[in-house]
Amino acid sequence: MVDVELDPPKQHEVLVRLHASGVCHSDQNAIDGTAATRCPAVLGHEGAGVVEAVGPGVTAVAAGDRVALSWLPACGACDECRRDLPHLCAAAFPAMEAGGLLDGTTRLSHDGRHVYHYSLLSTFAEHTVVPEASCIPIPADVPFDVAALVGCAITTGVCAAWRTARVAPGERVAVFGCGGVGLSAVMGAAAAGAAPIVAVDVSLERAQAAAEFGATAAVAWSGDADTTGAAVQDASGGGVDHAFEATGRPEAMRAAFLSVRPRGQAVLIGIPRADAELRVPARLIPRGERRVIGALYGSARPERDFGLILDAYRRGRLPLDRLISHRLPLERIEDAFGLLREGGARRAVLALGPEDAA
Ligand SMILES: [Zn+2]
Ligand SMILES: [Zn+2]
Repeated sequence: MVDVELDPPKQHEVLVRLHASGVCHSDQNAIDGTAATRCPAVLGHEGAGVVEAVGPGVTAVAAGDRVALSWLPACGACDECRRDLPHLCAAAFPAMEAGGLLDGTTRLSHDGRHVYHYSLLSTFAEHTVVPEASCIPIPADVPFDVAALVGCAITTGVCAAWRTARVAPGERVAVFGCGGVGLSAVMGAAAAGAAPIVAVDVSLERAQAAAEFGATAAVAWSGDADTTGAAVQDASGGGVDHAFEATGRPEAMRAAFLSVRPRGQAVLIGIPRADAELRVPARLIPRGERRVIGALYGSARPERDFGLILDAYRRGRLPLDRLISHRLPLERIEDAFGLLREGGARRAVLALGPEDAA
């Protein structure tokens, strides 16, 4: 833990007092080198807090507003945004990778040297400066820790079911990996009326616990893709329409593909290593019109979907708060990553203000 300098917000930027941040696998990928990341950086990209000040030109939020943060502020002007695919915005990703904000510069420094932003948000901190378009207002009765998770894991999983895959009532679903994203996919599929929903995890206990979120069957990872795929075929009564893969491991992706029925699709959410390759039996693709598709941020529009998700939570249709297994102060961030690496947490959330302590 160090104190770093944070410059005030510039044009279309917002200073946020953070109250909660989730600890996500993408942060771990940045730490262990699975994803190249500009350093030194303040990591964290799953946050919520209160707007403290706004820069010139900001109209979407004002000081005092409670906000959840989206790590994908679409520019609205690139080819992808114009094609109505703002979650694939061609401007946001290069800015993210460069480690600055949208204008390419950083607001963070330490001893006169640049410190970089992570995913435009840098939420492992008490304060952050973020793009205006990252700030999504939330209702007063939504806890900050739930809102923080909506910023990444929940939207990534729920909207993979709702938006990317468009799960319909009565469709069969499998979810590989029962961490925060996978359980969110289970919740999204259940809320959409899917049945059966087969949860798969290396830990049978974790797969069984997915019943709390709407799963109807549990399968333990057998040690190889082919037998696990066959076990899901059995557990689902002959294969699923949508097999969501939330681990990023090529073997689990293969198992997901092998678990779908004709016209079914493997929906790949987890981010694999840069050199990873996926092997699947090619013949099954034309024979049965099986598909492999990707889901990025659940193809979501944060300004629309954060509100829908939180409304479903408030009406008891998405048990989002059950995802939070641990609440820790910022000082214990290493413990939070330990839990993540051991698979010992659904989601650990850092409480970032004195009033947020568990
Ligand atoms: Zn994340
Ligand atoms: Zn764009």
